[in-house]
Amino acid sequence: MYELASLEVKDCQRCDLWKTRTQIVNGSGNLRAAVMFTGEAPGKMEDLRGIGFQGQAGKLFDAILSHLGLTRQTIWLNNAVRCRPLAGRKNRPPRTEEVTACRPWLIQDTENIGPRVMVTMGRIAYESVSGRDDFQAKRGTIVQSSVGPTLFPLFHPAYLIYRRSARLVMCHDLQKLGHYLDEMGIEREKHADRENIFCVP
Ligand code: SF4
Repeated sequence: MYELASLEVKDCQRCDLWKTRTQIVNGSGNLRAAVMFTGEAPGKMEDLRGIGFQGQAGKLFDAILSHLGLTRQTIWLNNAVRCRPLAGRKNRPPRTEEVTACRPWLIQDTENIGPRVMVTMGRIAYESVSGRDDFQAKRGTIVQSSVGPTLFPLFHPAYLIYRRSARLVMCHDLQKLGHYLDEMGIEREKHADRENIFCVP
């Protein structure tokens, strides 16, 4: 049986992002998770704390989990790249070569955790895992992939921070994803008072 330490990437210099990182933000969660969530890249807070989805986007991510009846303890969470991409002192999207360089670590997580469903959040995570460029067409749908688990692409939580209309789209997508998890027999909490900030117009 592998252990968490075997999934921790240490001292990686496969791309230039190592030069400006505070630390590598490795995956976290449940080593036997049936559902993996993959985001884009660490931001400032994640780089400092070493844990994915902090700050405002983190609150929205936790609301997504709550809506689905999942928690950070029942899923596995990682990113398309594990070091913070910087433009000056600001975050920037990771470049194609950085995503390509970090992809083996993402695939390693997928092979070791063995999730049945992989929820990619945002275009970059979806493209890294699927090798496809049709995020807009496939968001909110079930996508078969060569990496193993079925994919379910969603918007990135940060995209929802200032976009109320996108939250309603997320509401619809989460309802579909919830039904799919039930069809797959994946356990999730079903109590009625789950957090729901997406389905409110
Ligand atoms: S982003 Fe990924 S590939 Fe690049 S240095 Fe960090 S861990 Fe290595």
